[in-house]
Amino acid sequence: MFIRHLLTVGLFSFCVSLIPGYAQVPETGRWQELAYSTAAVNAETADRYHEHIDALRSHKQLDQDPALLSRIKTIARGLISAASKLKPESNTWRWEIHITSEQQVDAYCMAGGKILIGSEFVRRLKLSNSELATLLGHEMAHAIAEHHREELSEALHINAQPGDTLDVMMGRLETDISMQLKLATLSNIQESEADQLGMILAHMAGWDSASMVSFFQKLQRVEANSVPNNSYPSTESRLSMARGFNKLWAKIESDQKSIVTRRSSATNDQK
Ligand SMILES: [Zn+2]
Repeated sequence: MFIRHLLTVGLFSFCVSLIPGYAQVPETGRWQELAYSTAAVNAETADRYHEHIDALRSHKQLDQDPALLSRIKTIARGLISAASKLKPESNTWRWEIHITSEQQVDAYCMAGGKILIGSEFVRRLKLSNSELATLLGHEMAHAIAEHHREELSEALHINAQPGDTLDVMMGRLETDISMQLKLATLSNIQESEADQLGMILAHMAGWDSASMVSFFQKLQRVEANSVPNNSYPSTESRLSMARGFNKLWAKIESDQKSIVTRRSSATNDQK
């Protein structure tokens, strides 16, 4: 792996944004091999995000439901604070949140914390606040785990061509189906990781884990008839993961309560 990195840098040293290195995803501890710098990826994705936002605004599909936007921003505040504990660098990010009535958009978060939530998706699933926190946590987890940066780095390793700037590589990721197929396994890993990390963020922000399970139940219901997609874990395995976390936290909570009870009865006995 290390040799491949050296060769890559030698061949594409003209690309100033290439700063190879390794990183570990917060909490899950998974190692990532990264080619591009965080700063370069965040700047490039911010440009793309703002292009999308401007297009939605010009079609009057942006932030049309102020009550929903305000609800989402309120929930996001606690999650952003939790994210800064897992990834202190995210303190310097300019998180942005918008909603859209564009039917094709469910939810996404681009590198550096650029979030877009589909209002129709939220309505279709009738998401409660804690379910919305689970959705937002999942999206934010993609950003703090730097999944976009990792995906671009992997794409560079798979099929690097002279002249591949970061901008070109981003365009290929969006349009090159054979590249997307090659990255399906990585995408599957990242989605699963974002589910777990997202639940951790929501838990840290104080949301009830039983309601997080109900988010994955709703997802399973709406996707029951959709065509299987290798880029995503099955809704069954996502639900099973959420149930596992819920049980774990319930056990930790009950153990902590029994420790407190034992300590207080021991104190009373000494009186
Ligand atoms: Zn995702």
